[in-house]
Amino acid sequence: MKKLLFLFDTDPYASVFDTVVGYDGGADHVTGYANVTPENVGSLVDGTIFTRGGKEKQNTAIFVGGSDMAKGEALLGAVKKKFFGPFRVSVMLDPNGSNTTAAAGVALLAKATKLKGKKAVVLAGTGPVGMRAAALLAEEGADVTLTSRSKARAENAAKAIEARFGVKVTPVEGADEPARAKDVAGAQIVFAAGAIGIELLKTSDWQNSPTIEAVADVNAQPPLGLEGIEATDKGKERHGKLCFGALGIGGLKLKLHRACIGQLFESSDQVLDAEEIYALAKAMA
Ligand code: NAP
Repeated sequence: MKKLLFLFDTDPYASVFDTVVGYDGGADHVTGYANVTPENVGSLVDGTIFTRGGKEKQNTAIFVGGSDMAKGEALLGAVKKKFFGPFRVSVMLDPNGSNTTAAAGVALLAKATKLKGKKAVVLAGTGPVGMRAAALLAEEGADVTLTSRSKARAENAAKAIEARFGVKVTPVEGADEPARAKDVAGAQIVFAAGAIGIELLKTSDWQNSPTIEAVADVNAQPPLGLEGIEATDKGKERHGKLCFGALGIGGLKLKLHRACIGQLFESSDQVLDAEEIYALAKAMA
């Protein structure tokens, strides 16, 4: 029986990235749907849960993606609401690679250094990756600050994280590079989660810091989020700090994403979200 993966994407087109990784993770066929909302997802879910019976049902799975964390979470909620009794299939939530990327980055940091009790700053943490990274760092016991160019956006992200994970992160404004340099003063961990091709800190903002122990950056496209590191860094020591670049993190992210897709087809009752994906990341890191 063929393994079928259905991508429910909240964006105007279904993600090519998630389609490719769907195949690489073991699906025989990947079907992408765009502009999927909690209102229109019902019949799509029906198609996944009423077509195969018993153990055969595990050969159908759902992936919820898109570029908006809140929309993705709402869509996952609507998908799960349609499930009842044995009429369910396994589902994974990973808008913009948020869970897999944040889980890979934080798992590598957790392996390299103790996070509990450390002050961690997630720069430009209002996107899907930054919000998940902030939540995972806080769940590891770090004292987390999340920056945005807008205080209101930082506050909204912090509220959403608290509502979902029950952890508090401190929202601060980091409108420009000098402001972000002040935001990381006194921190031990810096996690740069800015948009692609956007530099957030200069080398001078972190290299001479007496407190910073480890820095991570998930932006792979130059200029990198953190000047002075290399995208391929994976625990490389620079200026006495452990550095993790986007490709250093991305290797584990891709392996993790593929492993999660493979796991979806092992039973029909799994929900792979931040906690489940992070547990797997820690085992794989
Ligand atoms: P995103 O939503 O596109 O952007 C994250 C935040 O960047 C935005 O919320 C915004 O925050 C801030 N930002 C945008 N333009 C900016 C500017 N000109 N100056 C300063 N800040 C700016 O990002 P995402 O989807 O969460 O992804 C985060 C990063 O992870 C991206 O670079 C993405 O390419 C990368 N990624 C890496 C991997 C990997 O395997 N390495 C996988 C997936 C994604 P405010 O508007 O609140 O300031």
